[in-house]
Amino acid sequence: MSEDNILKFVILGEGRVGKTSILQSHFKKKFNQGEKSTINPAFYQDKVNYKGKVIDLKFWDTAGQEQFNAISTMYYQNAVGALLVYDTSIFETFEKVKQWVITLQEAVGKDIIFVIAGNKMDLIDKNIMDQQKAEIDSYCAKEKCKHFYTSAKTGFQLDEVFQTLINSVLNKVNSSTGGTTGKRRGKKLEISEQKVKKEKKGFC
Ligand code: GDP
Ligand code: MG
Repeated sequence: MSEDNILKFVILGEGRVGKTSILQSHFKKKFNQGEKSTINPAFYQDKVNYKGKVIDLKFWDTAGQEQFNAISTMYYQNAVGALLVYDTSIFETFEKVKQWVITLQEAVGKDIIFVIAGNKMDLIDKNIMDQQKAEIDSYCAKEKCKHFYTSAKTGFQLDEVFQTLINSVLNKVNSSTGGTTGKRRGKKLEISEQKVKKEKKGFC
């Protein structure tokens, strides 16, 4: 495949909300309750066929720096999509999602596509979900983003989250640039792809 077709995604949210677990559960089909596995990859890869082209997707995980508010701008740099995660059983973590969105938009621009995952939904009941709904709906309407309840533990709605995020990014790239093969192919995206290639060597 062409080295040119790389899209970078990042995952953000407060520490312990389940970011690494979501990536592991979705890409490796495994879940560790409690104990952290010591060696986690810096990113997870996937491929998608889009309009006759193979697109390489890279989902970067943090190395836990979010717990110290110390995510380097290199982490977001050139990302075209983001998964923002909070813990439904600790709803205060939704506030952190809002802050990360601001940080992310300052770092890479307002164009960034993001989807929100309300994770650990296996731990809460419907009453709690109903109480949280109004705030989530109003935020998502304002930011024009999608929200899914997920569980890294059961795998609930992980396919939906990733599909939605990937499709939204592909559609946006296609519509705003005249297609991945079009003449007006996004300058921003092309720069992103080159930088992502360089970034592969070192993880902040
Ligand atoms: P991160 O710091 O955001 O990457 O969070 P981790 O993926 O390390 O998860 C923190 C803790 O939450 C671990 O003990 C996980 O086993 C647990 N966890 C993550 N996702 C879920 C989930 O969907 N349901 C439940 N019950 N526990 C989860
Ligand atoms: Mg983690």
